[in-house]
Amino acid sequence: MRKETLAPKARAPEFVSGENFSYLGQNYRLRIIRDAAEPLHFDGDHFWLAEDARSEAEVHFRRWYIRTGRGWLSERTAALARRTGTVAARIEVRDLGFHWGACGKNGVLFFNWRLLQLPVRLVDYVIVHELVHLQEPHHSREFWQAIDRALPMWRQLKDALRSDGARFLVFGMDALRSL
Ligand SMILES: [Zn+2]
Repeated sequence: MRKETLAPKARAPEFVSGENFSYLGQNYRLRIIRDAAEPLHFDGDHFWLAEDARSEAEVHFRRWYIRTGRGWLSERTAALARRTGTVAARIEVRDLGFHWGACGKNGVLFFNWRLLQLPVRLVDYVIVHELVHLQEPHHSREFWQAIDRALPMWRQLKDALRSDGARFLVFGMDALRSL
């Protein structure tokens, strides 16, 4: 599933105190600190980035999103699988170029870690989309009918992903190129 329809990214991360980063559609402020036990820490309220880790900040954030989001995406995929009637053998969170998600061989679903910046309802659409691909590989009539049964609101979510998704992305197209 491609994200080609997103508007160009509005900003690139600067990694300065007070800057907002989104996780599942919620904004969390960044604080830069001098002495830290780990390069990037999240306390449920703020991200804490060590000053001497700023030059590698994108790498630390990427690692954080993958580590934190993997379990969440796993559980969410299992929950939504009850609606699609398909089951993913496992999921992987990684860089996926311009794709939000992909359906691989042997029942493996891949998700772009940047997806984790989006609100849950938009992530749900991407998960359901890939879950249905386990059974319907192409965007056939049957595919959209299955989407409709699993997620009746899908049209609205698909449009919102296109029109609204970009504003949650601190790590978007530009970040893709710089990693
Ligand atoms: Zn698709």
